[in-house]
Amino acid sequence: MKYEALKKEDPEIYGLIQKEARRQKEGLEMIPSENYASSAVLEAMGSILNVKYAEGYPGKRYYGGNIYIDEIERLCQKRALKAFGAEGYHVNVQPLSGSPANLAVYFALLTPGDTIMSLKLDHGGHLTHGSPTNFSGKNYNFVFYPVDPKLETLDYDVIEKLAAEHKPKIILSGYTAYPRSIDFERIAKIAKQVGAISMADISHISGLIVGGVHSSPFPYTDVVMTTTHKTLRGPRAAMLFCREEFKDQIDKAVFPGMQGGPHEHTIAGIAVALREAMTDGFKEYVAQILKNATTLAKSLQGQGLKLVTDGTDNHLMLIDLRPFAAGSGIFVEKALEEAEISVNKTTVPNDPMPPYYPSGIRLGPPALTSRGMKEQEMEQAGKLIARIVKEFAKIKLPEEKEKRAASVKEFSAKLADNSLIKEVKSQVIELASKFPVPGIDLPH
Ligand SMILES: *Cc1c(COP(=O)(O)O)cnc(C)c1O
Repeated sequence: MKYEALKKEDPEIYGLIQKEARRQKEGLEMIPSENYASSAVLEAMGSILNVKYAEGYPGKRYYGGNIYIDEIERLCQKRALKAFGAEGYHVNVQPLSGSPANLAVYFALLTPGDTIMSLKLDHGGHLTHGSPTNFSGKNYNFVFYPVDPKLETLDYDVIEKLAAEHKPKIILSGYTAYPRSIDFERIAKIAKQVGAISMADISHISGLIVGGVHSSPFPYTDVVMTTTHKTLRGPRAAMLFCREEFKDQIDKAVFPGMQGGPHEHTIAGIAVALREAMTDGFKEYVAQILKNATTLAKSLQGQGLKLVTDGTDNHLMLIDLRPFAAGSGIFVEKALEEAEISVNKTTVPNDPMPPYYPSGIRLGPPALTSRGMKEQEMEQAGKLIARIVKEFAKIKLPEEKEKRAASVKEFSAKLADNSLIKEVKSQVIELASKFPVPGIDLPH
């Protein structure tokens, strides 16, 4: 894609895209839910498929002219089942993103007020797993299981006990900020014992599963949701797998229950990403993610930082800032951003602070690994990050709630002149400049 038309027709948007491209090239993208899609994926998404209305499903559409669209959607479904080794499952590739896909499952299989069991949100659960501010939490009765207070890992015996006690209709596993592997087989077994449907939200780890470096929810789990834009490296969208017995309910919940016309240009992009995910190159890629994550974790720990669960088995890790100052996540995130390292602040298990002022930092190497970085670069990145964390995690947030925003603003205003940040930033730019970003080919 050359962006020639865009440059000519809309220099304002073109200019902003160019700035964003430069930001992505210059800095280190370490938010573990972000990743680069290939140029082939982006070309499919930017194609004329954007025109088509295709409400319904292949072979049964409410609009004409869908001969090739049907072929594309069927191919995407076929590749999805093959990539995940999900024989015997049905797949719906139309969900617009992860959040509506999760809501579609609840809508398909439950009545408002029914009980869902999921991981506590400040222990790593997602917004759509029962946040009181979300549609999920407002319409369904969520009961939560915790991580072990000491180890900070899942305690399957506790999940089993709580399941027996609350008899949920769905038991949800798969998380947004959990650095350890998940025993899907065990959770599915617990669900079966209490007559619940097992549901796995593998949004973060789906690439690791396809690449064979994380255990799979197939064939144990009844319903599996994944986004396609995280470790899987596809377009921003989602897919829903389910056992045949739930096929009609799930399909009806997605369309016409929650959505209208499917985004077939995106579905084509998912198909391309799935084809890529079945190559040996992708297997090497996810194996490298794990090596990079382990190296990064060791590097951070070697600099004296505490990680939640004391390490990682997957593509992400959480720095626990409580040994410095609870609530300092926002300062560290902003300081790292100024040094062109993108991470996100996050709650840590039993965080004493609220989600907007949490006590942790979540980061990981999937996007850097897509750029070709290896262990040596992770060592380097770990050292740079630790220097910033140790300097800025000490900063205390005001006790008084109404003074917090102003203190963050005042802090941010001074960052550009900070000499440590300037030094780290120049090293970040130097490191990043050696590794091209896949999918970005804007001239500048
Ligand atoms: C990212 C994520 C989602 C939501 O995906 P969106 O595409 O942002 O709506 C849902 N569940 C989990 C576990 C996630 O990590």
